[in-house]
Amino acid sequence: MKIVVLKFGGTSVGSIKKIKKITDIIINYKKRNFKVIVVSSAMSGVTNDLIKKSIEISDNFNESEYDALVSSGEQVACSLIAGRLNHKGYKSRSWMAWQIPIFTSGFHKNSRINHIYKQKIYKYIKEGGIPIIAGFQGINNKERITTLGRGGSDASAIMIAKFFKAQRCIIYTDVEGVYTTDPNKLNKAKKIKVISYEEMLEMASLGAKVMQPVSIQDARLNRIDIEVRSSFIKKSGTLITKRSNIINNKIITGISSTHNDSKVTLVGVKDKPGVAASIFKPLSKNLINVDMVVQNISPNGKETDLTFTIKTEDLNKTKKIIRNNKNINFRRLLFESGVTKISIIGVGMITTPGVTFRMFQALANKKINIQVISTSEIKISVLINKKDTKKALTILHKEFKLEN
Ligand code: ADP
Ligand code: ASP
Ligand code: MG
Repeated sequence: MKIVVLKFGGTSVGSIKKIKKITDIIINYKKRNFKVIVVSSAMSGVTNDLIKKSIEISDNFNESEYDALVSSGEQVACSLIAGRLNHKGYKSRSWMAWQIPIFTSGFHKNSRINHIYKQKIYKYIKEGGIPIIAGFQGINNKERITTLGRGGSDASAIMIAKFFKAQRCIIYTDVEGVYTTDPNKLNKAKKIKVISYEEMLEMASLGAKVMQPVSIQDARLNRIDIEVRSSFIKKSGTLITKRSNIINNKIITGISSTHNDSKVTLVGVKDKPGVAASIFKPLSKNLINVDMVVQNISPNGKETDLTFTIKTEDLNKTKKIIRNNKNINFRRLLFESGVTKISIIGVGMITTPGVTFRMFQALANKKINIQVISTSEIKISVLINKKDTKKALTILHKEFKLEN
């Protein structure tokens, strides 16, 4: 069976006009004799609005109710797509995760798909139907609704492609593919024709919202090629695939940037074993994700300064936790919310010396101050003042010749 999975993101189903447009894409595949499985996100803005409502009800909204609430946007979009296909004479219906069912494990808000029952969907596509499956949602072994983290309908699409052994998995979105950097932040950004899972995973984890990081991990693990392309412009997109399929002579493939980061510094912390653990343990218990960490070398062997970054939405909670932590002593607590992490990513840096220097020099030439640095085999990240974001993206894009 020639199965294709087509995933439509929030902006692709963001209005009635757009929904009508994307049903033409679906029909096109159907006419080419594909068995089509559609995965849809909620109409753009809907999930954000539902999250806002949960916060207005309570700042401690029950997590399983949260998942039941925020997954509801997908039901609307799926029914509208199916309804339009019916209108055009095609057999189609919406499927919520519990109806299939799609099983997940892990915590509410951030679950992962571990099994999809195939029987009902197989039967339906064999009968000529076009199933429109709600992305972003699943159920757990207590039969409660779960969700897969923001942007999670990408992960739904990849896992559906895996379980149904789809020939193709196409992510339709509002940009033409994966770009060297966010095309909405830098108009010199260039579309990347093909990118490895590893690089895409770094780009996504470091701020490129175009794909959800977990979905790339799933794709890599299951060797599923992903095509990212536009719902509105008929042009070839980006292929995300394994490294051995790629011939690339660029050192750097892309640049990502974050927004909404905050920096926390504890000045004058006692320099003794176990202090860092005492600081981070309660943060991790409260599911606060600590990102970059630096600890200065203690000048007198007694005291040191410790800096780390978190998401700004976790800032108030973090302040409270640190101030109430009886296991640590420090002289001062400093916070700064206007920081951005800029990262350059590329497998080419493994074999090319001098990349770090070029990055730092390029930023220095524009008088951009680097506050924190972190590196891995295929990426270098720096923390800078948020106001320098555009300048840094521009100069690094130029330095590593990404516009060519
Ligand atoms: P969807 O609603 O289709 O899931 P998203 O909003 O989640 O779409 O992702 C698409 C957005 O990702 C684009 O509008 C773009 O601004 C942003 N983006 C960030 N980095 C990149 C990148 N490197 N390439 C393409 N898009 C990017
Ligand atoms: N609707 C969900 C969200 O906004 C899932 C998705 O867009 O993929 O996060
Ligand atoms: Mg998305």
